[in-house]
Amino acid sequence: MESVIWVNLPQQAYEIAIAGSGLAQLGAGMTNLNLGKKVLVVSNPTIFRHYGQEAIASLKSAGFDVTSLTLPAGERYKTLNSVQKIYNAALENRLERSSTLVAVGGGVIGDMTGFAAATWLRGINFVQVPTTLLSMVDAAIGGKTGVNHPQGKNLIGAFHQPRLVLIDPEVLKTLPMREFRAGMAEVIKYGIIWDAELFEQMERSPHLDSLRLDSSLLQQILTRSCQAKADVVGKDEKEAGLRAILNYGHTIGHAVESLTGYRVVNHGEAVAIGMVAAGQIAVNLQMWDKTDAQRQDALIQKAGLPTQLPAGLDIEAIIDTLQTDKKVKAGKVRFVLPTQIGAVTVTDQVPSDVIRTVLRQMSTCS
Ligand code: NAD
Ligand code: MG
Repeated sequence: MESVIWVNLPQQAYEIAIAGSGLAQLGAGMTNLNLGKKVLVVSNPTIFRHYGQEAIASLKSAGFDVTSLTLPAGERYKTLNSVQKIYNAALENRLERSSTLVAVGGGVIGDMTGFAAATWLRGINFVQVPTTLLSMVDAAIGGKTGVNHPQGKNLIGAFHQPRLVLIDPEVLKTLPMREFRAGMAEVIKYGIIWDAELFEQMERSPHLDSLRLDSSLLQQILTRSCQAKADVVGKDEKEAGLRAILNYGHTIGHAVESLTGYRVVNHGEAVAIGMVAAGQIAVNLQMWDKTDAQRQDALIQKAGLPTQLPAGLDIEAIIDTLQTDKKVKAGKVRFVLPTQIGAVTVTDQVPSDVIRTVLRQMSTCS
């Protein structure tokens, strides 16, 4: 099984290739891109142990001159200090303007490697080999790169598009189950905002967990999700308008994540909670059918994701936190709300009382 999706951008188009045993095709996939010989592979120790040698072997057999660097694993290492280590390796290995950084990893490795590629020598080539479900369907596509500042996530960054995104679904076999579910939250998001058929395919499946998921459904999930992100990014590369719909579930999701110190729920779980809330808000405002909201929530549950707020979370604190979100414009909180399965609208006209009512309904200690 193989699919290719094009991300069409004014400067340059690039391919997202989804293929079983894709890692072995990395070198071949990069040969027609007019890249220099030098490649630096960036990964973390866990991922490198599983997939590093295979990626390097493939690059070498295609004639590339390959070196590698592993950075410590985890969001807390998504820092300028780690990027500095990539620069050091680039210098040591005399990378040139024509050289390429290849990120083999999840969103953390991809974001940092992309940022290093955006800035080293004012921009060198960059290839994404995402290894988490979330990075395959989301982080690796669209050109947002960056690192965290001690005061906030993703505050430092640049737009820098990859030359190729290579997805090998087989690497998901070693991905921890909770990480897989986190990616499923973004997949369900694409179903709601863009692709009703994707939503229905998942609805028809008896289960959605990584161990029992049918491989042809996984291929559909990857292809359709990447297509959704590619479509949206292709229409709005720098988030002037449409790209905002990708934040469905993220408004309340971000507040829940940050209020629980990024420790209680992971990003996907927070997005799941945020989608349930946004769905209920839309129902309350009579923009969305109650039965469709129930279908959404049932799918979220089937994916093993939460539909209620974490215990003990203060509702007023959530409402206050919404005001400080990066996406707030002129003091108004922007919500992405469904109007049907497969379509959403963006509005800043949600009364606080409606948010309060919905959050109370979702509260575990009510
Ligand atoms: P991650 O990169 O932290 O990876 C999660 C964990 O899984 C890590 O411990 C990693 O070592 C492990 N892992 C990865 N692949 C594995 C595999 N195949 N087998 C076994 N273990 C594996 O998490 P993530 O969810 O991929 O990415 C989250 C990051 O992505 C955040 O920093 C977020 O800001 C960023 N992000 C960026 C964008 C964007 O547009 N650039 C979009 C969404 C998220
Ligand atoms: Mg997200």
